[in-house]
Amino acid sequence: MTAQPTTENRTAQLMDGSAVARRIVERTAARSAALVESAGVTPCLATVLVGEDPASVTYVKMKRNRCAKAGILSRHVPLPATTTTEELVATLTELSADPTVHGILLQHPVGPHIDERAAFEAIAPEKDVDGVTMRSFAAMGFALPGFASCTPGGIMRLLDAYDVDPTGKRAVVVGRSAILGKPVGMMLLARDATVTYCHSRTRELSSLVREADILVAAVGRPEFIRGADIKPGAVVIDAGYNEGNVGDVEFAAAAERASLITPVPGGVGPMTIAVLLEQTLDAAERLSGTSA
Ligand code: NAP
Repeated sequence: MTAQPTTENRTAQLMDGSAVARRIVERTAARSAALVESAGVTPCLATVLVGEDPASVTYVKMKRNRCAKAGILSRHVPLPATTTTEELVATLTELSADPTVHGILLQHPVGPHIDERAAFEAIAPEKDVDGVTMRSFAAMGFALPGFASCTPGGIMRLLDAYDVDPTGKRAVVVGRSAILGKPVGMMLLARDATVTYCHSRTRELSSLVREADILVAAVGRPEFIRGADIKPGAVVIDAGYNEGNVGDVEFAAAAERASLITPVPGGVGPMTIAVLLEQTLDAAERLSGTSA
């Protein structure tokens, strides 16, 4: 898809993550059917959920529904909220050794009483389709092959789908979490953008946002980025998702200035799941020795 020309005072083109994700899921479904046909292997994603946090339950349900659309089996492993780190590590270690499981998703956050890092590291790197292990993170940092953290991976795919070349652009990432802000900045850097990270201790955030040719908002605060701070013609990626379907960017005002902008919902969210499914297929092909 071609980006609209950059002009001031026009309404931005929407980056339709749902449509781009649908195409990725369709391609994944075709690859899945081919794997069943050629090797008799049905790709399988294990989803592990600790407790019954309503948002996490919904996310896991969405991911499992989408698996079904992509011809991927999902094996759900619900664990009680009282699960200890040791028990969770044991479950993840077992799934890592199970030859019928190709990808493992530990829905997070897992609760404050669990050592989340220890749990993530129990996932075998070759099954880390959500890109949460230190090995996956290091591969991302070195721009080596490996599983991407899904939301950052989805954001990069969306930029590509709209022919946004980060080379030489000033990219500003607001947020520095290990699963989102940090890796998306690393990916933009690997694609030759000049990257600035902002976080809760950043001074004069608004003036940094104003310089962004590509802005990634990953804060988790409704409409935190003011539309008036968007540089005319900027590409605005709103990864935030807050109650009431509200993103981290003041959408209407930002859309008046940006050239391209993601809606919430229907922007980054569907891309995240599409990348998870695609990476599950990559893992299944590799583990069954059929990848090109
Ligand atoms: P997180 O771990 O809570 O990180 C939030 C980041 O925002 C932190 O780096 C924090 O800075 C920064 N921040 C908080 N207040 C700030 C302020 N006043 N000024 C500047 N920076 C501030 O959140 P996350 O997991 O990265 O998620 C961020 C958002 O993305 C949430 O809305 C989440 O729901 C959404 N999300 C969406 C998807 C998807 O698939 N669409 C996936 C994951 C997350 P410090 O590091 O200094 O504390």
